Amino acid sequence: YIVWLDYTKSKEDYQMVQGMGKYTVITGASSGIGYEVAKAFAERGKNLVIAARRKNNLEKLKREILGIYPDLDIVIRSTDLSVPENAHQLYEGLRGYEIETWINNAGFGNYDSVADQDLSKISMMLNLNIEALTILSSLYVRDYKDVEGTQLINISSCGGYTIVPTAVTYCAAKFYVSTFTEGLARELEEAGAKMKAKVLAPAATKTEFGMVANNVSEYDYDKSFGTYHTDKQVAGFLLGLYDSEKVVGLVDRESFSFRLADPLFPYAGNSSHNQQRM
Ligand code: NAP
Repeated sequence: YIVWLDYTKSKEDYQMVQGMGKYTVITGASSGIGYEVAKAFAERGKNLVIAARRKNNLEKLKREILGIYPDLDIVIRSTDLSVPENAHQLYEGLRGYEIETWINNAGFGNYDSVADQDLSKISMMLNLNIEALTILSSLYVRDYKDVEGTQLINISSCGGYTIVPTAVTYCAAKFYVSTFTEGLARELEEAGAKMKAKVLAPAATKTEFGMVANNVSEYDYDKSFGTYHTDKQVAGFLLGLYDSEKVVGLVDRESFSFRLADPLFPYAGNSSHNQQRM
């Protein structure tokens, strides 16, 4: 065979053509849990697509990873995922890549009573935590559900299984993430699909979350929580979930222990009261 090499093509083009490179997509990789998850997947030899708004942070992460693993391909996507159109564009712009794992981690919280909450911040939060996650999950599942070895991991919270005072709207949004992902996991299993859908539910973790949720520029986790995990520990929990056959990876809010579990929400399954299939 003659292999025709076109030197105007980029490394990415070659990987696409050769079908060699598989990628792990991580949204919200510019700080906190997503940043550490990106490093953990790089350590496993995975090429990455890292997405968030802050390009400088993504470039720093890329330099850090390539300094240790120079052969990996790290693709940066700077985008505001609270704009639903941008979620579609992010996905469409990755069509040339073979995506082995998609991790919807981008998200933020808000501490306030429902009566007092800032509705423009809440609208952004729902667009990011719910809408972008739903768009990206659906498009990924549509294309890859029958591909062996693929996984979708959505980041919820233990507040996505327990309602926490002063964070009712955030918790409700994370209940959505938990129920949507558990339901999807069941749907995929019932359809005999190859993809696994999983949900990670961390408890308090020392990241930029506290600052963003409280609208402050400094936040002391020691004063505010006393007990918390580091983002590196949570990245380790995510790898534990990734390696397991379980659907849920949950941190207990009281003991801070991590456990893997089957889906936790009630499921109507094959109830005779379900709508009959057409
Ligand atoms: P973090 O350090 O604030 O990281 C949040 C990430 O989301 C950043 O990379 C941020 O990047 C990205 N992001 C925020 N708004 C975005 C937007 N509009 N478009 C695109 N990306 C956006 O907080 P974290 O704790 O690591 O949070 C990661 C996930 O864990 C979130 O889903 C959070 O709800 C969940 N979680 C956190 C805790 C905790 O205690 N920390 C507990 C349970 C669950 P840019 O700002 O650069 O866009």
